[in-house]
Amino acid sequence: MADCLFCKIVEGTIPAKKVHEDEHTLAFHDIAPHAPTHVLVIPRRHVPTLNDVTLEDRELMGSLLLSATKVARELGVADSGYRLVMNCNRDAGQTVFHVHVHVLGGRPLAWPPG
Ligand code: 5GP
Ligand code: ZN
Repeated sequence: MADCLFCKIVEGTIPAKKVHEDEHTLAFHDIAPHAPTHVLVIPRRHVPTLNDVTLEDRELMGSLLLSATKVARELGVADSGYRLVMNCNRDAGQTVFHVHVHVLGGRPLAWPPG
């Protein structure tokens, strides 16, 4: 997708501080972190929102979840605790329309979210 920020990070035309990559996914630090650990895990393939995920994407979505838990372990927040967030569309505050999982940790996280 030519106009997608995260596709440009996948292509390498926009830099990012990568923490993990594999065949299907890429993980990098969020540019405006909301916690001591705030990493975004994305599929390499462009999928705009959770509403666009189909049965054919089940392996991709599984890889996304496994990459997120791997990142949590590698960045040392797995035992203390962390939160995975996926925002979908306006009311959830989605700003980048390429599916991503936020991995947030390193401090107590309030619940419920605002
Ligand atoms: P959303 O609000 O769509 O769930 O999350 C998008 C996230 O992307 C935000 O937390 C925002 O800080 C992050 N972000 C936006 N632009 C960039 C960028 O150029 N680089 C990185 N690493 N993160 C970005
Ligand atoms: Zn994209």
